[in-house]
This record gives sequence, C-alpha cells and structure tokens, in this order.
Amino acid sequence: MHLTFHGAVRTVTGSLHQLEVGGALVYLDCGLFQGRRTEASERNRHFPSAPRDVEAVILSHAHLDHCGNLPTLAAQGFRGPIYCTSATRDLAAVVLRDSAKVQRQDLGIVSKIRRRQGLPKAEVLYDLRAAERAISQMVTMPYGQRFRVGSSTATFFDAGHILGSAMVMLEGDGRRLGFTGDLGRPGSPIIRDPEVLPAVDLLLTESTYGDREHVALDEAETRLAAVVTETIRGGGRVLIPAFALGRTQQVIYSLRRHRDAGRVPDIPIYVDSPMAIDATTVYRRHPECFDEDMRGRVKGRDPFGLKGPRYVRTHTESQALVDSDEPCVVIAASGMAEGGRIRQHLVRRIDDPRSVVLFVGYQAENTLGRRLVDGAAEVRIYGEPYQVKIRVERVDAFSAHADRHELLAWARRVPEIGRAFCVHGDEAPATALALALSGAGVKTAVPTIGQAETV
Ligand SMILES: [Zn+2]
Repeated sequence: MHLTFHGAVRTVTGSLHQLEVGGALVYLDCGLFQGRRTEASERNRHFPSAPRDVEAVILSHAHLDHCGNLPTLAAQGFRGPIYCTSATRDLAAVVLRDSAKVQRQDLGIVSKIRRRQGLPKAEVLYDLRAAERAISQMVTMPYGQRFRVGSSTATFFDAGHILGSAMVMLEGDGRRLGFTGDLGRPGSPIIRDPEVLPAVDLLLTESTYGDREHVALDEAETRLAAVVTETIRGGGRVLIPAFALGRTQQVIYSLRRHRDAGRVPDIPIYVDSPMAIDATTVYRRHPECFDEDMRGRVKGRDPFGLKGPRYVRTHTESQALVDSDEPCVVIAASGMAEGGRIRQHLVRRIDDPRSVVLFVGYQAENTLGRRLVDGAAEVRIYGEPYQVKIRVERVDAFSAHADRHELLAWARRVPEIGRAFCVHGDEAPATALALALSGAGVKTAVPTIGQAETV
C-alpha cells in the first residue's frame, strides 16, 4: 500500500490523500483548498494523478474542505464511484450545488472589480453541471458494513463530527489503514459520539486542535450571551460566519435558552443561507444518524425549529438584510469568510465599531477569517481594501472538532496503531499532536505535501 499526501497537509483545507492499493488508485477525500486566491486556484485545478486513472474516491463527510473539489475531479475525467454514507451524499449534494452557485455569484462581483483594475477575467473553478456529475457518481454505504474498493475492502465508522461523517478503515495488500476524516466531540448534540477504529497499521488522524483545549461549553455560552447583549445594547449587529448547519444549530439553541431566561435581548436570529432549508431537510431525512437524545425529541416536535431562526433564501432578501439597521444576529456562510453571503455583511459593517463578527469555528491560515481573528487592521474583500473597525470575537467551544485532550483520549482507545501521521492541522497543532502521540508510544510524524510512504 503506497500513500501520497496531497492536501490538508500542514493546513486544514483541501483534504486529499492518494492511495495505491491492490493495483488501484484511490483518493481519500477530494476537498476544496481555501486560502490565497491564486494559490487556491492552482491547487484546486491540479491533482496528484490523472483524474481518469483514479478508481474510486472514499469521502469522509460533506464539509466543503473534504468534498468541495469533487466536481473539478469529475470535470477532468474521473468516472469512478465516490463512496460515502447516505447522509453525506444528501448533504454533499446541497453543499456542492451551493458551492457552484456561490462561485458564480462571487465571479460576478470579482469580475466587475477586475475590469475596473484592468485585470484579465476570472473564471469559476466549476459550474453546476460539474457539481451534478460528481453527485451522480456517489455510491452510498452504511456504517459498519465492509464494501469492495477495487481489490481492497473499506468500512465506515461514525466520526461524530457532522451528520453522516465517517472514519474509514481500508484493508488491502495485507495492511490496514485508518483515516479519521474530521473527528467530532463526545457529547455533541444531535449526532452520535465518535466510534473507535479497530487496530490499524497506519493511522491518518486530523489535528485541527492538536495544541488546544476548548473551554467548557457553559463558559462559551456565557461568553456568547455577553457578546450578543453588549453588541445589541450598543446598537450594533452580530455577524456569525458559519456553515448553515452543525454548530450553527448549537449556537441558536444556546441563544434561545439565554433569551428565554432573560439573559439576552429578544432579537431576531437570521440564517442568511440559500442552502439552510435544504440542509435542514437532509437532517430530517436521516434520523438513523441521531443520538438517543435527539431520537427522543424527534418523536414529539420539530427538533430543528424552523419557526425559530428566520431563514433568508433569496438574494434580494439577503441584500435587504445587509442594508437594514435592525439589531439582530446574522449567521451566514462561509465559516472562514472565504466566500458566500457573509462577505456582503462584512463589507457593509467592517467600519462599524458597534458591530461584532463572532467566529465559532476554526480559521485556517491565509483565510479572511484568520486575518480578522489575528487582528489585521486592514483586509481585502473581493480584492478591495477595507479598514477593520468592526469588533472581532471567537468562541471555539462550539467547534465540531475534538480538542487536544479528546483527540488523545480517542487515540488511546484504538487497540493498536502501528504508525501515525497528523494531517488536517496547521503546522503548530499538527506538530504538537504528533509529539503527544509519540510520547504515548505511537511513532507519529507530520507529513509534507507530496510525501510518499509505503505501508
Ligand atoms: Zn469537517
């Protein structure tokens, strides 16, 4: 079994690892790389092998940085199956269609600016047709059932990260490889806790928070309530960049609880996302992924409370919300502010010191979100410079990723790990986790892009 590291290596975006096993080329994930515009374009258009030679893709989950480049792969000639769980297929379909639409909308804005600056026309990475092609190649497999991939076999295990998220165990050439995809946190609402992988010769583990522990959830909730209350009383608006589902629901539940207890003002919460309703529908369709608590709640009433947050679907409604001065909370994609409607909200309020942009997820290096979190005085949005006057806050405890302690506790429960590689983490957290795992007796390294290994 030969492994080549290609994406989500010393970074958290563009997850893609290439395996040569049983004479076949298999990709683990095919995610979108997000970062500096030219680098991202270059990275996303080039694969480690000719797409038509790839036998199959095994997809861990529906987040854009794991599935978001499948349309490019399909458009460049890949015709094989994309194995994933049924919930991942449904969620990825929403995510990929949305990604194609967002690219087209962003292109319109960027093109105008580039024309003004005398620069050549920009192009989308892929269109809706390419997204549909990739979706049509998805083949679903339930958790815990072995399936054939060429002459190897693979099995999905629940990763407890988002609906449908899976870890993968691949057996071929007499070896066993485990891939965590993104590992969730025990005790997260709605979905089940992460399962444990069986003994493996090689483990690829994510390491997003390999050097950090999340604060306790109740502390995070108190902080959230304080930020919202302060901002609204001061006449500002709360902007939360986030994927339309997953942690967003937790933020909404938390805000509602505080509102009911009189700790935050009774203000509207908008989810400004054309895909939010579609994604909510997918959650409703997959009760097989729910934990015990959620299954109990599903019986009684609508657990996703469509009546609670106000969902903004059309572009016109979104623009009206951007332009209004109503005090409110706005949740909009993307989570790292690299694309999507959150950017329009940011452009409108970036010079407003009364408002706040509140990050609830990990911010990868070289993304707009990271620059804001790092305290940049000036940022570029759609290629134009803006002075940052808006306040910037972060609350990581709502993250869907296991923290350092949880990653190590999970790894300790795997019966045997021959060797490990820390992927899907920026340099510092990946290195910190590798050191900790090595200290626990598992030979662990942080790979570099293009590094090849024989298992
Ligand atoms: Zn993820």
